[in-house]
Amino acid sequence: MDVACYAAPAAGAPLEKSTLTRRELRPDDCLLAIRWAGICHSDIHTVNGDWPHDNFPMTPGHEIVGEILEVGPEVTRFSPGDVVGIGCLVDSCGECTPCSEGFENYCENGATGTYNGVDRHDGSITQGGYSTHIVCREAFLVRIPDPGDGLGVDSPRVAAMTPLLCAGVTTYSPLRHWKVGPGMKVAVVGMGGLGHVAVKLAAAMGAEVTVLSHSLSKKDDGLRFGASHYYATSEDGFEKEHDSEFDLILNTVSAPLEISRYVSMLAFDGTLVMLGLPPGGLRFGAAQVIGKRRSVAGSAIGGLPETQEMIDFCAEHGIVAESEVIAADRINEAYERVTASDVRYRFVIDAKTF
Ligand code: NAP
Ligand code: ZN
Repeated sequence: MDVACYAAPAAGAPLEKSTLTRRELRPDDCLLAIRWAGICHSDIHTVNGDWPHDNFPMTPGHEIVGEILEVGPEVTRFSPGDVVGIGCLVDSCGECTPCSEGFENYCENGATGTYNGVDRHDGSITQGGYSTHIVCREAFLVRIPDPGDGLGVDSPRVAAMTPLLCAGVTTYSPLRHWKVGPGMKVAVVGMGGLGHVAVKLAAAMGAEVTVLSHSLSKKDDGLRFGASHYYATSEDGFEKEHDSEFDLILNTVSAPLEISRYVSMLAFDGTLVMLGLPPGGLRFGAAQVIGKRRSVAGSAIGGLPETQEMIDFCAEHGIVAESEVIAADRINEAYERVTASDVRYRFVIDAKTF
């Protein structure tokens, strides 16, 4: 079926109203009417060609919530009317060790991205959530809990759950992997889309949370989200005051940072986890990691089981992303504002306006 969308015609070009074709349902597919689509900084990197590719025109969007309209004959877990979410993945091999353990995000044969990925069956390029409808295998859908306000998929709370499909699971997964809980000191570097959800999640898990932001302009928000401390990294010698302090540091900044400053703030056995993907390498001294058995690690989004677990955890703890709902004709303006760090803290597109 042909559906309305917003697409980038070329690298770095503004997105334009357009149409794309969704496939006929395969036996284990569901057709969704998309209701909300979040704007992740990764969408902007992909549109800008920061991660080079030739798949233009391209429709981004990997934070998607909608209602199921139709299911294929082999679908068992979902029915028309169910409210579901799609994150960064729509398929994987299903057979390798990570896939069989529920870590489709680390599929050894290459997981299929929700957009700018290659469909495993017909070789077409996948197109994302900035559109009115999408077709997806049921195994890659998560159930969105009812917000309890009688509004169902139209609820502003459901709109605000939408960014959790990427920003939520990308931060939840490392917090769980490194066993964050009471007694642990966690620092979040950069309080944007990913960072602000990380603060809420780590605080809900019982950790003592510190935000390391490049200015103090969002301090009140950070403390409201559950941080106990909020510091500006632009201050000279800042890292010396926090030497060996944190058990876990999540770096959500996409731009290159002086990583050795952050390594020096890790406690014995502490880990710095890279979530943003800056260009170039990371420089730090071997002595910095040897002396206190520190680690520098990375983490990519999350698997389907932990995405559902994260959504359920957020529902239980009342966590949503701070979201500004916009009409589709404001996507390009939203891109400029995200790039200028002028977003509080995620834009969500109302799919009725595509
Ligand atoms: P975002 O909303 O733009 O937030 C990034 C934050 O980084 C900003 O709010 C700002 O925080 C800080 N920042 C930006 N430019 C900076 C600079 N030049 N120097 C220092 N700090 C700067 O982006 P996002 O959507 O959270 O995504 C963050 C990064 O994670 C992107 O690179 C994205 O592609 C990546 N990502 C990775 C994964 C994964 O699986 N690993 C998943 C999703 C996204 P302050 O103002 O507080 O300093
Ligand atoms: Zn994302």
